[in-house]
Amino acid sequence: MVKSELICPICGRELETLPGGFRCKNRHTFDRAAKGYTNFLLPSQTKGKIPGDNKQMVDARRDFLDLGLYRLLSDTLNREAIRWLRAEGIASPRILDAGCGEGYYTAGLRAALDEAGIGGSMVGMDISKFALAAACRRTRGVEWGVASLFEMPVENGWADLLLNIFAPYSEEEFGRVLRKNGLLIMVFPGPRHLYGLKEILYEVPYENDVKHYQLKDFTFTGRVTVGDTVTVTGAQNIQNLFSMTPYYWKSSPEASARLARQESLVTEIQFDLLFYRKEKNPGKRKMPGREGKK
Ligand SMILES: [Zn+2]
Repeated sequence: MVKSELICPICGRELETLPGGFRCKNRHTFDRAAKGYTNFLLPSQTKGKIPGDNKQMVDARRDFLDLGLYRLLSDTLNREAIRWLRAEGIASPRILDAGCGEGYYTAGLRAALDEAGIGGSMVGMDISKFALAAACRRTRGVEWGVASLFEMPVENGWADLLLNIFAPYSEEEFGRVLRKNGLLIMVFPGPRHLYGLKEILYEVPYENDVKHYQLKDFTFTGRVTVGDTVTVTGAQNIQNLFSMTPYYWKSSPEASARLARQESLVTEIQFDLLFYRKEKNPGKRKMPGREGKK
């Protein structure tokens, strides 16, 4: 039996690696899907529904990201992560991407680490199984798991580096999974992100709010903002981008139709990377629903 990087979401014990999945000492088993990810969601967490982005949303996101127009963010993230790992002298990091989606940034970081000669373990978690199925096709060099970001099957203080990119965040859970002096990188849209898209959708476009969260047990250590102007060509690619944004749900039918008529979209993109250092080791607290807390 080989100890894995993960713990059992039912009882909190270490998970051992089996040929087709994972098992804990209490014989709770989690099978790896044929596509390569493992589902750690419990029936009590899903209530019979399939949570997270559906296949159509995942495909749209994947197709858009594969155009390379957000490469700037991927490159910036990789550069900052590698800079920090080297400064800290961490050759074999444990990295957790909380809300990895279809894995574009996670797989990009894995490739950049490999190229930089940095090994270690990477885990990508998302609540959408469709997203994980797509992520598996990007790389098998990451352990992909379907899980709630609020209850991840990872031991207290496991991660050196925690990523949270355009994803929901849980202050308490992030504090639990990150070790003392570990780094949290959160990514938000910058104020001017997709301004050109909003100029088509709205009479009076507005800038995004600048995010700056004070997180309990974390010290904010800096911000990197990067931006560019990109041209999205083709109605389908513009629709794919649109469907990734909150405006997709908020725009009027007239505004959506106006956008659908565009064959080309020129827009600013802007990303805000926020850096936080974890101040102390997590306590003994177990995830909700685990044994010992019933
Ligand atoms: Zn168990």
